Amino acid sequence: MKSIIFTDLDGTLLDFQNYSYSVVESSVYQLQAQFIPVIFCSSKTKTEQQYYRKALHNTHPFIVENGSAVFIPVGYFPFRTSEKVTDYTVTEIDGFEVIVLGETFSKVRQGIEQARREVDLQLWGYTDLSLKEIMEITHLESEFAQRAATRDFSETLLKGGKSSEKFKEFQELLVAQNLSCVSGGKFHTVMGAGSDKGRAVQVLTKLFNIQFGRIQTIGLGDSANDLPLLQAVDQGFLVQRQDGSWLDVDDESIQKVKGVGPEGWVKVAQSLISV
Ligand SMILES: [Mg+2]
Repeated sequence: MKSIIFTDLDGTLLDFQNYSYSVVESSVYQLQAQFIPVIFCSSKTKTEQQYYRKALHNTHPFIVENGSAVFIPVGYFPFRTSEKVTDYTVTEIDGFEVIVLGETFSKVRQGIEQARREVDLQLWGYTDLSLKEIMEITHLESEFAQRAATRDFSETLLKGGKSSEKFKEFQELLVAQNLSCVSGGKFHTVMGAGSDKGRAVQVLTKLFNIQFGRIQTIGLGDSANDLPLLQAVDQGFLVQRQDGSWLDVDDESIQKVKGVGPEGWVKVAQSLISV
């Protein structure tokens, strides 16, 4: 049966501190040689993921901004996506068929601005900060920070009082506006309530089913925003976080793999590679 891997990037495929992919690189190429697609499923933007797709010679579809949209290279499937997906809008952008599950960036920004005004909370996203500040907070270099700030469907809260009581109120106000706010480990992401990584994985899995029949789906993640992804696949794996702990989950079907971030990722990848 064909296997397909859906993977988070930050802290899972990529090193949590320096975003390096050196640990996973040779396993990624081994998977490619065995025609096992690795599908990125991350809070990262299209522009950011394009960088890593190019670096790792990945030509597969990818899921951006925490499940807000699925990008499928035109011609990837032997059918038009728009003919098979009827629940969501499908548009064509820069050689991709794009399934949009989330909200527009302007709706998300308006929601944040209104909610933080109402609860009187100081919170800053990419749009509120200078490139220099973004670089200091994210430890991204200039061109990487610019890619992260180029957003279509979601906003990331980079700075502000997330531990305060007011933050709960702020989150509730977002929910009232049909938005959601989830933690990706380092930062919270705000986006349309109708989208999460799990829904995006389900939409894409259906397309793979049309092409290949039954497939085996594998998911890898490290944070709370990966839970819907890990529950949408046949077998979900949690890698260890920086401090050696795993995300606290009730779901016993999700396996905890030993190895921090990419180290754990490689273990799962190697178990799928046949010699
Ligand atoms: Mg992560």
